[in-house]
Amino acid sequence: MDVQVNDILTMKKKHPCGAQEMLVLRTGMDFRLRCIGCGHEFLVPRQKIEKHIRKITRKDGT
Ligand SMILES: [Zn+2]
Repeated sequence: MDVQVNDILTMKKKHPCGAQEMLVLRTGMDFRLRCIGCGHEFLVPRQKIEKHIRKITRKDGT
């Protein structure tokens, strides 16, 4: 799965705060994500998070 920094991930499961979207701050073996709803940041193993991604939104523009 192709995930890049600054992508917005729409997750299958909601965060406890109710938001379903996460901003990608860092990729690699572990992803650092920020919840769009509450701003909470967390580190998740790539393999784990990939199963929970419903959609990737990229703000390409340029
Ligand atoms: Zn949240």
